[in-house]
Amino acid sequence: MCDWHHEGKACRPAYRLPIEQARGRGREGNRARSSVPGDSCYHDRVDVLLIVDFQRDFCPGGALPVAGCDEVAERLNDLAVRFDFVVATRDWHPPDHGSFAGVVVDPSRWRGSDPPSIWPVHCVAGTPGAELHPTLDQSPIDVVIDKGQDRFSQGYSAFHESGLDELLLERGVDHIYIGGLTTDYCVKKSVLDARRLGFDVTVIEDAIRAVNVQPWDGARALEEMRAAGASFTSAGELARGRAAIV
Ligand SMILES: [Zn+2]
Repeated sequence: MCDWHHEGKACRPAYRLPIEQARGRGREGNRARSSVPGDSCYHDRVDVLLIVDFQRDFCPGGALPVAGCDEVAERLNDLAVRFDFVVATRDWHPPDHGSFAGVVVDPSRWRGSDPPSIWPVHCVAGTPGAELHPTLDQSPIDVVIDKGQDRFSQGYSAFHESGLDELLLERGVDHIYIGGLTTDYCVKKSVLDARRLGFDVTVIEDAIRAVNVQPWDGARALEEMRAAGASFTSAGELARGRAAIV
């Protein structure tokens, strides 16, 4: 037990560790070592539940809906109370966002991985469609991160110019459990970025849903995430291992 443990709870380091230390790679796995001289404490894992873009426009009745939102909400709500750090992202686009059909973008300024103008207008900042869907219980959510605000890229990834990386580092997070929408775009891009940044990632496979512009897109996204080193679990399996926090 070190100074950073208290009341029987695991360390929640409030200080910023150097990046390589905070994400302790290699033989030490994902245990972050204290930067306090002479302190031999190894911190327990710090987990976050990352809920991606569970917004009205991505659910039935919205501008770009996927099926099965009710099931996803139920599972995320059950899990959120089992994590002591929960972050939700929102797609939060300007009205003239370059991904929207009908918006003309100077190709020399476009930084998106997909072409511009391919999506219906969705999740415009401040509109009802951009709100978190009401079936998602917001009370366990600690932080809401808005992304996709730059009109010259799609902003699929939760890490894209959002400050999420810095937030997770500040909180000492090393393991991201991820659910939300959509499997083949924002969830996938977030997972790939998280792996690139050195986080452990577990995808909650029955708490995500795909757009499936092509019917195989969701399945292919799962393969890409797996190839990048993401693990997979189900909401039920994850819940069994984590008591609800009261
Ligand atoms: Zn979008």
